[in-house]
Amino acid sequence: MATTIVNHSSTTVVPTVRPAEHHSSGIRTYYVPSDSHPGTEYAVQHIRKPGMNRWQCSCPHFYFRCAAKRRHCKHIRVARLAASPAA
Ligand SMILES: [Zn+2]
Repeated sequence: MATTIVNHSSTTVVPTVRPAEHHSSGIRTYYVPSDSHPGTEYAVQHIRKPGMNRWQCSCPHFYFRCAAKRRHCKHIRVARLAASPAA
C-alpha cells in the first residue's frame, strides 16, 4: 500500500516583514504584521550605534513584558530572521 507523504511544513505561515524605506543612521526599521490583530503592523527597530546593539518593538507585549527584562518579542524574532536569512 502506497504511503502518502503530506508535507505540513509547507503550510507554515511566515509573516511578511517589510523593511522601512527610509533609514536613520544606526537604526533599521522593519514592519511586522500582528497575527492577533490583522491589519496591524508593529514597527521593530534595530538600533546599532557604538556601544549599543539592541532591538525594540512597538507592540504592547514588548512594551509591558519584554523591555524591562531585555527580552525579545516574536516580532523582533521574525525581523531578526528577515534581517539575516542565513542565520
Ligand atoms: Zn512585538
